[in-house]
Amino acid sequence: MIDVILKKGKEKAVIQRHPWVFSGAVEVVKGKPANGDIVRLKNAKGEFMAYGFYNHQSRVALRLLEWNEGIAVDDNWFRNKVKVAVNSRAELLSSGQTNTCRLIFSEADYLPGLIVDKYANHLAVQVLTSGIEKVMPVIIDELQNLLNPESIFDKSDASSRQHEGLETTNTVLSGTTPPESVEVLENGILYNVNIAEGQKSGFYCDQRDNRRILANYTKGKTVLDCFSYTGGFTLNSLLNGAAAVTSVDSSALAIETLKENIKLNKLDSTKHNAIQSDVNKQLRVFKDNGDKFDVIVLDPPKYAPSRSALDRASRAYKDLNRLAMLLLNEGGLLATFSCSGAMDMESFKQVLAWAALDAGKQVQFIYQFCQPEDHPIRSSFPEGEYLKGLLCRVF
Ligand code: SAH
Repeated sequence: MIDVILKKGKEKAVIQRHPWVFSGAVEVVKGKPANGDIVRLKNAKGEFMAYGFYNHQSRVALRLLEWNEGIAVDDNWFRNKVKVAVNSRAELLSSGQTNTCRLIFSEADYLPGLIVDKYANHLAVQVLTSGIEKVMPVIIDELQNLLNPESIFDKSDASSRQHEGLETTNTVLSGTTPPESVEVLENGILYNVNIAEGQKSGFYCDQRDNRRILANYTKGKTVLDCFSYTGGFTLNSLLNGAAAVTSVDSSALAIETLKENIKLNKLDSTKHNAIQSDVNKQLRVFKDNGDKFDVIVLDPPKYAPSRSALDRASRAYKDLNRLAMLLLNEGGLLATFSCSGAMDMESFKQVLAWAALDAGKQVQFIYQFCQPEDHPIRSSFPEGEYLKGLLCRVF
């Protein structure tokens, strides 16, 4: 195994078990490891620190796996990590009300670059590092042993793979091709998921708990679900007795699937209005028409992909939230989210405070939303925390 020597003074994060070593922290690589090879990280004195995946093309040169020198990172090591992650979702799936969730969440489940989502009996996988790419045969085999899925589909995100020098993929890894529409159950609600064509790996299961929590506030209310995708917040609200729900999304496929999902759950489609449009435009249309709502959901895509994009993203979040606040009835509720890891909760509250000031409104934060248990946040990897939201009462 090839040794990689860390620069003096860069030990702290490694000792604290942060799983990333940036290329700038590497003093020397003693050999020529291929991308994805497992290497041994040592400090400047030559003492063992950790084993990790190596990649010379990535800004993150090493993704650390194991800090105990005596434990070999072999096939069994990977099988064990897969098993532990899958087993830790048992309670979540035991209710019989939910059969879709994230089974493996990359660094947070000690498998940097591997994401596995469960859609009933089908799995969607994202392979984002060259290290995971190399051990995929073992991982697929273990997933088959544990779950015996009908299909395992590779839905890897192109841009992350590029950073690691990997090709884009979109293929069946095992079993049959998943059907165009897989029916899944979440919080007792049915959804059609198109694994191959849908966004992300097909469905945003990270909003499972938040959809249910918000639904408690929608009985008898008029609801505007912005960035609705296939209707997570819409369906939960309708099922909980919302008087009327309007959903807005720019994606035609999302809107089409949302309409199917309303039928699938035998919900009253006369209470629902779907608009395929840009949310920023549509909010201005509502404003010009004098339309008002009791509850508004804002669940936009990631506006800040990195810290450097934070200023711009903050302005975009502020503008969006300001517009929504103007469309609420007195004392109405705004459920607003950010899935940008770079934006922390404190900064998000600040953005909301600015939006309120600009809108001439007052805001109470009455609940803080977060990511669910199948998207764990590893204490040594705070970067894994990305989803946050605020339930605001707006006066
Ligand atoms: N709330 C959804 C998930 C939202 S994901 C759920 O519960 O499942 C973000 C969504 O925003 C995607 O469906 C995407 O199509 C949509 N989107 C992105 N930019 C948009 C824009 N400018 N206007 C409208 N929709 C947009």
